[in-house]
Amino acid sequence: MHIIKDMGWIEVITGSMFSGKSEELIRRVKRARYGKKKTLVFKPEIDNRYCVNSVVSHNGDQINAINICKAEEILQYVTDSIDVVAIDEAQFLDEKIVDVCTKLANMGKRVIVAGLDTDFKGEPFGFIHILMAISEYVDKLQAICVVCGNPASRTQRLIEGKPAKADDPVILIGATESYEARCRRCHLVPK
Ligand code: ADP
Ligand code: ZN
Repeated sequence: MHIIKDMGWIEVITGSMFSGKSEELIRRVKRARYGKKKTLVFKPEIDNRYCVNSVVSHNGDQINAINICKAEEILQYVTDSIDVVAIDEAQFLDEKIVDVCTKLANMGKRVIVAGLDTDFKGEPFGFIHILMAISEYVDKLQAICVVCGNPASRTQRLIEGKPAKADDPVILIGATESYEARCRRCHLVPK
């Protein structure tokens, strides 16, 4: 990426689960810090996957993050001295995330936003598709399909080890659910 002076912008990192979105967001934030940039990292409260106050990649990397419930809360933390604002798991944030990212970029900030492009049904997730449209840069990462080894663009939801149906409840009490990276061909959503 070339140097852009005196201007902010939005970069979106998207793809399925395990595609390396958090890994890439952490990498970009760390590199910005080497360049003496002041960074702030946010993630929605809902994602308590590993650690409440950190963004954690499945590869074990992590950085501190501020938990937020609503997208607009981000603006309260961003002062003039902040150069880079990174937001992980943005698919869980409300529609205001679009205005917030736009505002930050217009203020001259570099905005790095990571999130799932599709849900377990393979349908657009949250407002990521809008962020992709209004951003300057989009990186769509692929994981590896655990069934066939092809590049994986989808997230397979499994309930008790079997593909989840489109209308299965979002929260299942007492059932074990898990997620896998799968390609278009191996991704299953039974009716
Ligand atoms: P995301 O934020 O997109 O869910 P992470 O950054 O948390 O991705 O995790 C990426 C890491 O997940 C990879 O570097 C690798 O170590 C691990 N991983 C586990 N399963 C897979 C898979 N099926 N394909 C690719 N990477 C995988
Ligand atoms: Zn496959």
